[in-house]
Parts: sequence; structure tokens; C-alpha cells
Amino acid sequence: MTSIWLDKVREIPTDEFEPLATYDDVVIGAGLTGLVTALLFARRGHTVAVLEAGRVGGLATASSSAMVSRLQGAQLQKIRRRTYQSVVDAYVAGTGEAFDWLLGYAADAGVDVERRDAYSYATDRRGLARVDAEYLVGRRAGLDLEKTVDVDAPFATIGAVRLRDQAQLDPLDLVAALAADLRALGGVIVENARVTGVDAGDPATTHTALGDVSSERVHLTTGAPILDRGLYFAKIAPRRSFGLAFSGIDAAELPDAMYQGVDDGGRSVRSFGSQLIVGGGAHGVGRASSEAQIAHSLERWTRSHWPTAHTRRVWSGQDYATPHGVPFVGSLPRGRGRIYLATGYDSWGMTGAVSAARMLVSDVVGDNTPWMTTIHHRVTTPVAIGAALGENAAVAWSFARGWGRALTNPLLPGEIPSEGHGRVGIDGFTPVARSTVEGETCTLSAVCPHLAGVVTWNDQELTWDCPLHGSRFTRTGEVIEGPAGRGLARHDD
Ligand SMILES: Cc1cc2nc3c(=O)[nH]c(=O)nc-3n(C[C@H](O)[C@H](O)[C@H](O)COP(=O)(O)OP(=O)(O)OC[C@H]3O[C@@H](n4cnc5c(N)ncnc54)[C@H](O)[C@@H]3O)c2cc1C
Repeated sequence: MTSIWLDKVREIPTDEFEPLATYDDVVIGAGLTGLVTALLFARRGHTVAVLEAGRVGGLATASSSAMVSRLQGAQLQKIRRRTYQSVVDAYVAGTGEAFDWLLGYAADAGVDVERRDAYSYATDRRGLARVDAEYLVGRRAGLDLEKTVDVDAPFATIGAVRLRDQAQLDPLDLVAALAADLRALGGVIVENARVTGVDAGDPATTHTALGDVSSERVHLTTGAPILDRGLYFAKIAPRRSFGLAFSGIDAAELPDAMYQGVDDGGRSVRSFGSQLIVGGGAHGVGRASSEAQIAHSLERWTRSHWPTAHTRRVWSGQDYATPHGVPFVGSLPRGRGRIYLATGYDSWGMTGAVSAARMLVSDVVGDNTPWMTTIHHRVTTPVAIGAALGENAAVAWSFARGWGRALTNPLLPGEIPSEGHGRVGIDGFTPVARSTVEGETCTLSAVCPHLAGVVTWNDQELTWDCPLHGSRFTRTGEVIEGPAGRGLARHDD
């Protein structure tokens, strides 16, 4: 299901693809990162084209709860545990500048922003320890955090950190404004232009199904990097989480702050007009036994605190975690200084995307600020290496489990999954993925074309998801997102 942000009818004009056109900068992906990057380059007089596989802002950015906050759950202690205080300080400085940039931009562009206090709250003892740690690490980095037990929320908490005067908005309003401003400066935005490859020549050539374009530089702002150079797909952990919108709640019961739980499985809560938005249920892509069950548990939790809540919408989206908790931004190895990437906001991309965009532009024009330099030159610690090894072990386990399950489960001739279900099994020597949706049964190869993981059925989104590196496919096999360059092949029954 799509998020509530897509309910509002908005015109986001775009451009025709011009084969063989030449630009200073080609930006791949029209999410928040791509649009801010493109706008900043256009403001410097560069010619820019944004090539988007689907719709402008239609993927992670459209799924976001869009809490724009310098207090980000328990993110700072994660970065501190895996790096150094100097990196936390740099992250906080970058986030602060991104916050100011975003709010300044929104004010100039007429995008509605509501100022709200942000809370990182705990409901159990482990959470309380995280609240304490976030307070200490954040204060050391200069954030004006307050510790409080006085959390005015309709659910029980045992402590929280508060940062006053943060913000919430509608991310698609922001996207529409960025796109319009970019085009007003001569920037080009092309939808339905999936990029299939980039050659780092002089100039660089970007290949799409519509044709090629060339440019001085190419910026990958696609969530998971779509090029395997630098093996970044193996350095980030793809995580999906849910957003749910509820109506039927008395105005007095709606939260007037933004809440992010720091316990395991912590939930976020904010309002949007007369609606309540609840987020949570983060899990590894393709690794949950039932996404629908996770969504139901979030609904149950919400109704236990707001009994009149009526579910209007349930959606999920994907973001990427790095081993050290700091985004990967910069020049791609073997990209000859022509290909750049930005990814890994760990669910805090409202400010993370803006920080990353500013870094990409500074890398090119050569005006890196001290916080950017610190982030670029951070040293990988043994703890971060341990986190990366843990994720790679999970990938190896998912690979073995997927193949093991497929090979030991023969698909019977004529076997048809019930409505809304999908099942993986072996047909002859081939692992196949078969689903039935709206009465239509479709059989595909179950092997992800990226690195041969066996896909699993996502019973909430009715998609096939790869548990290795987060590629996702429609029930008929087309790529939705992730590093896979092509879809799942049809399998003839
Ligand atoms: C459920 C959820 C809630 C969240 N809540 C918050 C929050 O409250 N606060 C916060 O700060 N952050 C939040 N985030 C994180 C934030 O939304 C994301 O980090 C941010 O939107 C990422 O932006 P992006 O531009 O990197 O990615 P995207 O918006 O996904 O943009 C990438 C674009 O690249 C395109 N693309 C991919 N491959 C290709 C290709 N081959 N060719 C062309 N185009 C391609 C995609 O179609 C997509 O449009 C949340 C995320 C989720 C999933």
C-alpha cells in the first residue's frame, strides 16, 4: 500500500529524456538525496539531469514518517560505540547544518513545517540505559538535550531525552518544491528512466533503457548503490520498516510532540493533521517470517493506546544501515573521480540526505568543511568491523537457508498458492517463486539476479524480497528497488 503522502493530488512536472544529451552532473534517483544534490549543483550554475527509475520521490522518501530531528532515537550512541566522539561531533554538526538548511529552504519555498519537541523514549530497563547514553553522548556533542520522566504521551514510558523545537512535515510537499525549483534553474528530471549502467570514461556515460547521456560526473543517490564497484551493497544492511496512519482519534488525544522509542523494536509516533502516524517494525529485508504480522502487531499496539483509532493506511519502506552508523558519501572506488555515491541514513534521511547532498557538492567544488573532512577520514574501528562481519554472516546464513528450503520443497504439478500467498519450491532443478494475487498465478525464477539469493514472499506488500542485499521485485518479476540490475525471469510451468 502507498503512504498517506501520496494521497494529495500534486502536479510534479518532469521532462522528456533527451538521448545523447550532455550535462555537468547526472544524478541517478529522484528521492530527497538526489533532488537536493541536483538543486545545489544547479544553484552553482551546473547543468544537471536527474534520472529516476519510477516516480519522483516515490520510494523511501514517500515512505518516510518525515520527523526532521537532530535527536534521532539512539543513533548517536550507536555512532559513538562504533567510532569516536570526534565522528559523533562531526555527525551532529552536519545534521545541525542540514536541519537549518532544510527548514530555511522550506520557509523560502512555502513548504508547511510544524515545529515539535522530539523525544527518544524508553519503556524498559534496556531502553532506559539507552536514554541515559544518548543524553550523555548528545550533550557531549553540544546538543541541548534534557532528560525527563515527564513524557506527556498516552503510552507508558519510564524515561526519555527531549530536544525542543524540532520539526515534522509532509515529505512529498518538500519533494514537489525541490523538483519545481530545480527545473526553474534549468535542471532536467526524467521519470521512468531506470539506469542500467555507468561507464566512468571522459566524459562518463550513463545507460538507460531510453538511451545514453554523458556528463562530467554521475551521482548515485539510489538508496542501495546500483553499481557493484566498491562493494557498497555488501557494506550496508537493508532494513524495512512500517508506517501506519490512523483516523478517528479525538484531537485532544493526538500527540503534540514526536516520539521515537529506543527499546528493541521501538515505535515512532507523530501527528499529521487529524491523523496519527505510527512507525516501527524494523526488520532485515526478506528476513521476516511474516511482514503482515509485524504490521498487525503495530495496529494492535496503537489500538491499545488509542482505542478509537481506525486504520487508514499501512505501508512500508526501506533504508540502509552502515556498520558505523554514519552514511557512506563520496567518490566511488574505480569510478575515476567521476562517480559519487550517498547512502546509509539508517532511517534518519530527512537530515541525512541533506548532509550527504551538501557533502557531494563540496567534494566536487573542493570546499569541504571540518565536519565533512572528519566524516570522510574516519577510521574503521574493530567494533564497526564486527558489525559488518555480523551482517555478512547473516547474508551467508540467508543464502544457505534460502537454497536449503527451496531444494527440499518440491513444487507439486499444478500447485496454486491461495490468494495473497507466495511460495518458493523446486521445479525440476530450478528454484521457483509462485504467487497468486487477484486471482492471477505467476511463476518466476526464485533466484535473485544480483548474487543468487533465493527470494522470500512479502505477505504485506505482495512482493518478492531478497534477504541478501535487499533487492525487491513485483509479483510479476520487475525490479522495485535494491542493487539488482534486472528482474526475476518468468518460469514456464
Ligand atoms: C518507514 C520509514 C520511515 C522513515 N522515517 C523517517 C523519519 O521520521 N525521519 C527521518 O529523518 N528519516 C526517516 N526515514 C528515512 C528517510 O525517509 C530516507 O532515509 C530518505 O528518504 C532516503 O532518501 P533517498 O533519496 O536516499 O532514497 P529514495 O527516496 O529511495 O530515493 C532513491 C531513488 O532512486 C531511484 N532509483 C533506484 N534505482 C534506480 C535506477 N537504477 N535508476 C534510476 N533511479 C533509481 C528510486 O526509484 C528512488 O526514487 C524513514 C524511512 C522509512 C522507510
